[in-house]
Amino acid sequence: MSESRQKRAQKCVSCGINVAGTNAASFDCPECGTGIHRCSKCRKQSNLYKCPSCGFTGP
Ligand SMILES: [Zn+2]
Ligand SMILES: [Zn+2]
Repeated sequence: MSESRQKRAQKCVSCGINVAGTNAASFDCPECGTGIHRCSKCRKQSNLYKCPSCGFTGP
């Protein structure tokens, strides 16, 4: 019942805000499988995302 199960920082790949606890979209990079998060604001704006690991960009 604690909040410590998610210790990794979850940052929006587009604007860099902390998306932990928000309804951000989370998915895996199709190239390297790295977990990617995007906040609802950037999702609405359909900002491109860029994988922090391999540099893959996508819609
Ligand atoms: Zn964002
Ligand atoms: Zn990647």
